[in-house]
Amino acid sequence: MLPNTSGKKILVRVDFNVPINADHQITDDTRILKALPTIKQLLAGNASIILMSHLGRPQKKKLDNGAINVAKFTLKQVVPHLSKLLGLEVQFASDCGGDQSIIKARDLQPGQVLLLENTRFDAGETKGDIDFAARLAALGDCYVNDAFGTAHRQHSSTATIAQFFKPDERAFGLLMQTEIANAQSILNSPKRPCTAIFGGAKVSDKIKLIERFINFADNIVIGGGMAYTFVKAQGGSIGDSLCEDSHLDLAKDLIAKAQEYNVNLIIPEDSVIADAFAPDANTQIVPTVDIPQGWMGLDVGPRSIEKINSAILSAQSIIWNGPLGVFEMAAFAKGTMAVANTVAQASEKGAFSLIGGGDSVAAINASGQADKVSFISTGGGALLEFLEGKKLPGIVAIEKVD
Ligand code: AMP
Repeated sequence: MLPNTSGKKILVRVDFNVPINADHQITDDTRILKALPTIKQLLAGNASIILMSHLGRPQKKKLDNGAINVAKFTLKQVVPHLSKLLGLEVQFASDCGGDQSIIKARDLQPGQVLLLENTRFDAGETKGDIDFAARLAALGDCYVNDAFGTAHRQHSSTATIAQFFKPDERAFGLLMQTEIANAQSILNSPKRPCTAIFGGAKVSDKIKLIERFINFADNIVIGGGMAYTFVKAQGGSIGDSLCEDSHLDLAKDLIAKAQEYNVNLIIPEDSVIADAFAPDANTQIVPTVDIPQGWMGLDVGPRSIEKINSAILSAQSIIWNGPLGVFEMAAFAKGTMAVANTVAQASEKGAFSLIGGGDSVAAINASGQADKVSFISTGGGALLEFLEGKKLPGIVAIEKVD
């Protein structure tokens, strides 16, 4: 990570943007757990650690009087749990780069950990403001970025700050390194056959990803709401299913490109349709090209699941992003859960599998088989942009040659 950290103050950007309920209890601590290896390694190297993170969107959800809702968005809520996980008392500065941060950072001793208040309490953070970044940078000797989930943001604490440190004073944390290595392995040298499964609501969010994977994947599964734009583009009747009419031509182009590149593009042939977007709607299973008016496709059907499963089981590398249906409602969760189970099964047989995006990760966790897949990414948007081939500001800032 960093060559020599003994006695140094290391600023570490982590992603502690965890869900917290009204009783201030953390309901899912995955992101904190994922940051622990880096923190522990630095502590073992006799460093003192200054942690920075955002939590939620405090600037967008201000109180009626225009003030920040500190009670809801303070990172202080994370301190007890983090202290317990680390087995030490984590200190807290009730500002981020202000007087209290300066004093507490100055007095911090090797082996101690200080957490700063939510970076987004400062309006400069999301603007990538250089003055705010300079104030943060002045608190430490080195900078480590371990927040892959926000690596696609050009924010002060995720990107701008890096320029205040020489190349040997800045580094990726262990989580960032692993995230980058896993995403790169599927892009640069995927074991064949490679199966990509893309779901979710909108084609517009996934176009670049699909385009890129057509270049090297053997099978591409298109599921979720976005499948219906493809079905309509091919002349099918999709009833009231989700559709982006402005993307019909693009869907046609992607279908043609897949043919040209000999990619097996799997568009669900049957669907579970419903007469309302509701958990207790009436349902039936019909061919996807034949959905009546007043009905909408909310999950892939059993024949599609069979095809998708065999594309997964035949693969040596698998990437999955996005639910195959409205998996939040039990009646439309079968396709997504089938993919979760089959990806786990294929991984057990030796395939490399990478799962990213909140919904897919929730599904694999719900299946109880998360430990079987090769890698679960902490990045939603960041992973998508990385896989699309975009240069992520948080990565570029560390790697930049001065
Ligand atoms: P995204 O954020 O684009 O990955 O989309 C995730 C959302 O897509 C989830 O909340 C799903 O409920 C939704 N979704 C999946 N399949 C469908 C569908 N067939 N119709 C409407 N929404 C869907």
